[in-house]
Amino acid sequence: MSLDLATDTKITWCPGCPNSQILVSFRQAVEEFVADGTMELQNIVAGAGVGCHGKISDYLEVNTFNSLHGRIVPTLTGIKLANPTLEVVGFSGDGDSFSEGFNHITHAARRNTDISLFLHNNQVFALTTGQATSTSTRGFKGGTTPQGSIDEPMNPALIMLAVGATFVARTIASDITKTKEILKAAMLHKGFAFVDIIQPCITFFDTREYYKERVHWLSEKHEKKSLDAAFDAVRGASEKKVPLGIFYQVEKPTFEELV
Ligand code: SF4
Repeated sequence: MSLDLATDTKITWCPGCPNSQILVSFRQAVEEFVADGTMELQNIVAGAGVGCHGKISDYLEVNTFNSLHGRIVPTLTGIKLANPTLEVVGFSGDGDSFSEGFNHITHAARRNTDISLFLHNNQVFALTTGQATSTSTRGFKGGTTPQGSIDEPMNPALIMLAVGATFVARTIASDITKTKEILKAAMLHKGFAFVDIIQPCITFFDTREYYKERVHWLSEKHEKKSLDAAFDAVRGASEKKVPLGIFYQVEKPTFEELV
């Protein structure tokens, strides 16, 4: 019998929002894991923070939990510590985890807590109608920056490499199949797995054309176990090129094992 993870809840994302593509990628990933026996549905927990991304928990027929703004990472850490046999996944946004909850995500990464964190990175506070986040580009005009943001944006993948995440990747929501494969690799990884998902907000910061011309996938020769190669790949980004793929993946003891 095929598994259907859709719920009856009406989807209220803006029509065409790439959040729907992430939803499809994740549903397909879980459906494939359950179908081939890699995971059991009752052992999967998929939590979310606050923001447009957070609605995803209403659209998934899995164990879910909505946390406070910026607090999905410590919530998931508690779930994983209480029952380390669970497959624990978190959805968060750039506003949720790189503005509100930045302290939490960096410490979970350095501790190598065995959870996967999928960042819906739309470079804007979208649910609250368009304010700058820590990943908004310099010059971004929104509710809090009407004359343009004067700040340099954070690079989430670079930060995760710097603080010790053992799996760091980037993908783009519009490539549903490749995103599904990267989400699956992250879920299979033992340790903190971080996936930066470029998810343009078509209502408040439409970057679809910008990224369409710039994204490129890492070569198959990329050495995932080399931290230097990972830093070079992430730093290789420029105004003209935005690299996608698994930058880094190594095995280290997890937080739960050490506890
Ligand atoms: Fe998607 Fe932006 Fe609409 Fe939120 S506001 S649902 S991120 S398009």
